[in-house]
Amino acid sequence: MTIKEADIRPTILINYNREVLFYEDIEIFHKKFHNKLKYIDNCIACDSNLVYNSFTKDGFTFQKCPQCNTLFVNPRPDESQLKWWYSNSKHAQHSNEILQNTESKRIELYETRIKNFLNRVPTHINKILEFGCGNGISLQLLKKINPKLNLLGIDLTPASVESCKEKGIPCKLADINDFALDNNLSYDAVVSFEVIEHLVNPEFVLNSINTILKKDGFVYMSMPNYHSYDFLEIGEGYRNLFAPGHLNYFNPDSIKLLLKRCGFEDIQVFCDGVLDTSIVKNYNYMKKIKLSPFWENIYNNENESFLNEFQKLLSKYNLSGNMTVIARKK
Ligand SMILES: [Zn+2]
Repeated sequence: MTIKEADIRPTILINYNREVLFYEDIEIFHKKFHNKLKYIDNCIACDSNLVYNSFTKDGFTFQKCPQCNTLFVNPRPDESQLKWWYSNSKHAQHSNEILQNTESKRIELYETRIKNFLNRVPTHINKILEFGCGNGISLQLLKKINPKLNLLGIDLTPASVESCKEKGIPCKLADINDFALDNNLSYDAVVSFEVIEHLVNPEFVLNSINTILKKDGFVYMSMPNYHSYDFLEIGEGYRNLFAPGHLNYFNPDSIKLLLKRCGFEDIQVFCDGVLDTSIVKNYNYMKKIKLSPFWENIYNNENESFLNEFQKLLSKYNLSGNMTVIARKK
């Protein structure tokens, strides 16, 4: 795959997005919800109560768990505060526009994602729910590959539901926890891509997903991997590290701990990320990070073949910034 970060995140749009809209939104958010965020006592992944403050960014405190190295925002917004953010934030709306404008470039990523999914689940899987389906691209690709699949998307955004319907993809405006109450034991698989990092209570949602699944059904999710080259090299200034958008930063071990606690087994993690070196290269180019002389030499001399090999190594050793987890309901 030859996709680069600039293909899917045009630099001018991204900079404008980050530097102007985001900070305007954040200021309004903090004024509106000052002292109204809620503390949680335990780690979102392993439930340890030994969590400590790691750093603050944009007025939010990021805590870390010394047991499993999960990073999470604490105190956290609740559902209604997040709803306000996603309905009113110009930054969130702008991010959606970028997603739509770069859809044709992203299609390569989505296709790979769907092919990987189908290769990793048994062939008998038929009834599939996508939680947080957005504009329905993943479901559309699934339908194209196998028209016999029984597919449904759910999303909290009315525009997403409309967009799915225009594509002929069945979609409901629903909260996953409410959906679970009416649809227990009915699905072979629940998939979600880049959703869990946004959730107020990932444990509660995974328990709901467990309820929705038939026995031996699969949950399949992608998310950022905090224990990765891009997150650890770029550090606190990383654009992907932001609240209240991203509240939860798991790593391959900690997402396994959480899934076990929610009634899943046979858990496997894959790091399919392909953008790490391209992202670090851009941060270095914009002088937003200080690399060691060795890495500066590699990036400044555009040592592409080395970087391509290095990217493959990151994936092989679960050290790339995006991970996918599959687990079977007990
Ligand atoms: Zn933990």
